Amino acid sequence: MNNIKADFPILKQMIHGKPLVYLDSSNTSQKPNVVLEAMQHYYSNDHSNVHRGITVLSGRATERYENTRKKIQTMLNAKHVYEIIFTSGTTESINLVANSYGRTHFTADSEVIVSTMEHHSNIVPWQLAGAKLKVIPITDAGVIDLKAYASLFSDKTKLVAITHASNVLGTINPIKEMIQIAHARHIPVLVDGAQAFSHMSLDVQDLDCDFYAFSAHKAYGPTGVGVLYGKEALLKKMAPFKGGGAMIESVTFEKSTFTGLPLKFEAGTPNIANVVGFHAALELIESMGIENIIQHERALLQYATDKLSKILGLTIIGTAPHKVGVISFILEGVHPHDIATILDHEGISVRAGHHCAMPLMERYRIPACVRVSLAVYNTMDDIDLLCSALEKVRGIFHV
Ligand code: PLP
Repeated sequence: MNNIKADFPILKQMIHGKPLVYLDSSNTSQKPNVVLEAMQHYYSNDHSNVHRGITVLSGRATERYENTRKKIQTMLNAKHVYEIIFTSGTTESINLVANSYGRTHFTADSEVIVSTMEHHSNIVPWQLAGAKLKVIPITDAGVIDLKAYASLFSDKTKLVAITHASNVLGTINPIKEMIQIAHARHIPVLVDGAQAFSHMSLDVQDLDCDFYAFSAHKAYGPTGVGVLYGKEALLKKMAPFKGGGAMIESVTFEKSTFTGLPLKFEAGTPNIANVVGFHAALELIESMGIENIIQHERALLQYATDKLSKILGLTIIGTAPHKVGVISFILEGVHPHDIATILDHEGISVRAGHHCAMPLMERYRIPACVRVSLAVYNTMDDIDLLCSALEKVRGIFHV
């Protein structure tokens, strides 16, 4: 991971006269040169529309777009390439399932099981689809209560929708076990992998999840691209989410019929250049090696947790034994927004607020917290600078 920071041009700048320390990658990660260059190259040489032309350019654009799909299939170990659907992000992937699966399976009293630590994008789509939410409680450390989870199933349960890793607590959930519990009751499981992809090794066949959703922009890729993995049998039975070009077989004014997977779910011109850019990000992840990434981020997490714990008045929210590189905290006597503002003046980017997890804030009885999140380009120096800046915050507020 040495020198990887140098591959991310944005990280070379100064903010308020200080070198930028970017600790907000759970929000969105920064982009390496290879991604920027791939997009520039694509637009300069290969751009055309995909799947609908007989020109050389359309052939090239289609090949590059489909190559990304193949790469994702390999990285997730999906059985079929057509089980990989491109969306605009995790949010759209979940909305796709809530709409398409929900439309055919939900009735007036349907229930979806979620956890206390879900992001709003794994709460609101189910509510919009008319489902009642049954919520898995968590311990104070931020660990799922598996016994309580097993007791939530009823004859009204239609789906479990659970995050793989929490964007606030960092907790890595025991999703394989949770999927087995759901499958024993013949209930499918959607996994929100927004904070897991690029931070852990994944095998959707081994996990046996029915759906897996994530965003490219949190994994060194461009914004506007997401992925929904779905098992063929389920996807085949689901109606299209959006109608338009590319997803049809035939159209008359009376009736339309639809094409097969995956294009049935990809109406309209997709985000081709960004999908192409994502390929370069995926290659970078592969070349670094997911095991090396895990080790690097784990070492940083440990170092940061130890150092932050020593700051007087600071409480870490989320102390589960298995975590991704996310550390949220509050500092007694200082509002999280004030902390983030002062850190920004020191060149340090963190996020403060409810992190799109209002029910989780309520669980901890806090209005907001500060979140530090780690990625491959972070270093121990970044953590040292963060901790010195937090001591400054304490000085300013006399706490
Ligand atoms: N789920 C989790 C756990 C997240 O952290 C996020 C974004 O922060 C999302 C879903 C939504 O992702 P996006 O905004 O890329 O659709």
